[in-house]
Amino acid sequence: MRKKIVAGNWKMNLSLVEAVELYQGITELTVAPQVEVVVFPPSLFIDRLMTQFLHRIKVGTQNAHPVTSGAFTGEISMQQVADMGIDAVLIGHSERRQYFNETNEFLRQKVDAALANNLRSFFCCGEPLKVREVNDHLNFVKNQLHESLFHLSAEDFQKTVIAYEPIWAIGTGLTASTEQAEEMHAAIRSWIVDVYGATIAENYSILYGGSCNPSNASALFACPNVDGGLIGGAALKLSDFEILVAETTWITSK
Ligand code: PEP
Repeated sequence: MRKKIVAGNWKMNLSLVEAVELYQGITELTVAPQVEVVVFPPSLFIDRLMTQFLHRIKVGTQNAHPVTSGAFTGEISMQQVADMGIDAVLIGHSERRQYFNETNEFLRQKVDAALANNLRSFFCCGEPLKVREVNDHLNFVKNQLHESLFHLSAEDFQKTVIAYEPIWAIGTGLTASTEQAEEMHAAIRSWIVDVYGATIAENYSILYGGSCNPSNASALFACPNVDGGLIGGAALKLSDFEILVAETTWITSK
C-alpha cells in the first residue's frame, strides 16, 4: 500500500511563538503508522522546532538553491539544508514559479541538487486557469514533469513526491472537484507507468493541493489516485490540520 502523506506549507506566515505552538500541537496529534506528516515552516524557524521538539515531526524547507555555495545573496543551498538534518524540500511551488520566475529547467537543477544531498523533493506541478480553460491542463502538467522530474533514475524518482496543485485553486478558496483531481492524478500515475513501470507507479504517493480544508478533504482524499494533501491555509490552524491528518488516516483503509 502506498504511503499517505499530509504536508503543511506554512509559507511566510507565523511568528516564532506561533510556529513553536503549532509545531508542538502537531507533535501531539495521533498519526497512524502508515501516514506521514511533514511541515514546511519558514526556514529560519526550523532548527528551533527540530531542537525543541526532538524532531518528532518531519520538516522541510520551502525552497533551496541548486548551487552548492557562492554569491547568491539571500539564498540557502541544498547542502546547507541537508547539513541541518532537515528531511525535505519543496520544489516548484507555483508561487516560486510565478514570483521568482523559476523555470522547468531551473527546477530540474533543484531536483538534482536535492537528491545529491539526500533530501526528499516534494515537487509541485499544476496549471494556471487559462490553460485549464482551453482544456490543455494534462499536456501542461505532463510537460512540467518531463522537463523537471522524469529524467531521474528509477531509484532517485522514488525519493520524490509529486503534489498536483492547480494554480487557480491555491489560496483562492476554489478547489478542484473530485473529478478534476482524479483525472489529473490518474494521468500523472499513468505517465509514471510509462517512464518507470507499473510497480513504481503503484507505490508512488501523489498529493493534492489547492484550498484543501476540513470540509472538502474527505471527498478529495477518497479519490483512488489521491494519496493525501499539500495544505496551505488550513495547515496554519491546528484544529483544521488535525482533521486533515485524521482524514488521511481514514483513507489508509480505502
Ligand atoms: C499551497 O500553497 O501549497 C496550498 C495548497 O495552499 P492553500 O491550501 O492555501 O490553497
